[in-house]
Amino acid sequence: MKYDCVIIGAGLSGMAAAVRLAHFGKKVLVCERHSRIGGLNSYYSRRGELIESGLHAMTNFAAKGAPKSLPLSKLLRQLRIPYGDLAPRGQNGSKIDFPDAVLEFSNDFAELADSVAKRFPHSIDKFLAFDEFVGSYDGLNVTAGYVSARSVLKERLDDELLIEMLFCPLMYYGSAVVDDMDFAQFAIMYKSIFREGFCRPAGGIKALLDILERRFVEGGGEILEKEPRDSRFPERGLVKNCRVATVNVEGGVVSSATLESGEIVETEKVLSSAGLPETESLISASDASKSVADTAEPGVLGFVETVAKLDAPMSARGYDTTITFFNNSAEFAYRPPEEPVSAESGVVCCPDNFRFEAGDFVPTPQIRVTMLANPDAWNTLRENRSDYESAKIAATETALKVAARISRTANIADSVVFTDTFTPNTITRHTERINGAVYGSPMKSKDGRTKIKNLFICGTDQGFLGITGSMLSGISMANMHLLA
Ligand SMILES: Cc1cc2nc3c(=O)[nH]c(=O)nc-3n(C[C@H](O)[C@H](O)[C@H](O)COP(=O)(O)OP(=O)(O)OC[C@H]3O[C@@H](n4cnc5c(N)ncnc54)[C@H](O)[C@@H]3O)c2cc1C
Repeated sequence: MKYDCVIIGAGLSGMAAAVRLAHFGKKVLVCERHSRIGGLNSYYSRRGELIESGLHAMTNFAAKGAPKSLPLSKLLRQLRIPYGDLAPRGQNGSKIDFPDAVLEFSNDFAELADSVAKRFPHSIDKFLAFDEFVGSYDGLNVTAGYVSARSVLKERLDDELLIEMLFCPLMYYGSAVVDDMDFAQFAIMYKSIFREGFCRPAGGIKALLDILERRFVEGGGEILEKEPRDSRFPERGLVKNCRVATVNVEGGVVSSATLESGEIVETEKVLSSAGLPETESLISASDASKSVADTAEPGVLGFVETVAKLDAPMSARGYDTTITFFNNSAEFAYRPPEEPVSAESGVVCCPDNFRFEAGDFVPTPQIRVTMLANPDAWNTLRENRSDYESAKIAATETALKVAARISRTANIADSVVFTDTFTPNTITRHTERINGAVYGSPMKSKDGRTKIKNLFICGTDQGFLGITGSMLSGISMANMHLLA
């Protein structure tokens, strides 16, 4: 049998594309190297607790009945997911915390505008004009080239500190570029975080992944966990424990994919969510060109994240902020630090500080701290197990100090039940992303095309990031390259 499409990876982009293709009766095979879907945003169990591996918050909150043009409404419609199944719960409120200023924002844009007016009264008119400009900017234009957001903000805003404060959350939640970002990406992130805001699925990430699997099955798909001698491939299937080892290209055209287990699957097209340079490394050696794009450089921005499970919610200690984006120095540096991890800036998140309703899955009491990391330093540490473990312990201690300082709560370490810390190496091990670069390559393939005419990219390296963004990427790439 020849598939219409083989999808590499069942992260959020691959799953959204698979659901879409299944709805339209395509012969699609999704291959996921893990036994669980979700990729960067999945979950695991620790001491009997369900821990979400990625979810701080979904961006693009839309209330029930909100305009159909909003990204979340579009996403739900395209995947035929009823609003009540996702049931997004809004955030309490978030902060941008710099030494000389704090800005507060929520899912009501007026709160950010008020906060800017109070702290930057001389800049509020320019800020409101900038907001209008960003609001009408088409960040989704797939033919647009890279434009430095830093240069656009310098032209339109007059306060350096305000510029850095606006960049901090948007870079931390979606820039693969050192100290800058593509203005199209800036516009998408600005609208999704400052204008629409943060939310969580009522059932957490597991519920969202379960919904995607269910929608795939309702579209005629079958879900299998691959056993070593199992070579059955359904006409429409999601196969777990199934790594794609090579994408076989002859004469500049993909003909098939070879799986780690040795089977060869013939296909008309391949849609890869593995990343541009990672996909390039899968191209069969027999193809002379090998290159999928001129700019498939691996990303260099990695993170260390510590999850600290606490004996009581942070809200019980008077800290009910959902997310704080912080920076300690005069300059905000969004680049790999010299040392393995830097506490100069970062993100502190309490996934239990949302507006939950009765019956929701409320995450176990916890605080999460994300800081910039140096992937090279962690690769070197990895060579010696005890050095690596010591560095992780040191990073965890730093994270707990950051959590105490940002939440202005003393003795947070006394309430810690357990911690988990992941490094760029953990991300690479889990997803094969080079350098553990969560946001992938700095240059994206916005239209999903590669140099190989029937090989397409979706997800992170297409350029739509985060949970909502990667699902929209899967949908739009499926629509554009497989359903048009
Ligand atoms: C710690 C952390 C916290 C985050 N928090 C948030 C958040 O709060 N909100 C938010 O919006 N975003 C968050 N993100 C970002 C978000 O998770 C990602 O942008 C999004 O999930 C990317 O989805 P994707 O489909 O592009 O890629 P991935 O999730 O990387 O999916 C790619 C999939 O491909 C599989 N794969 C790779 N190579 C192969 C192969 N050869 N064969 C078979 N399978 C393969 C991988 O196993 C993986 O499942 C976070 C990320 C991390 C790491």
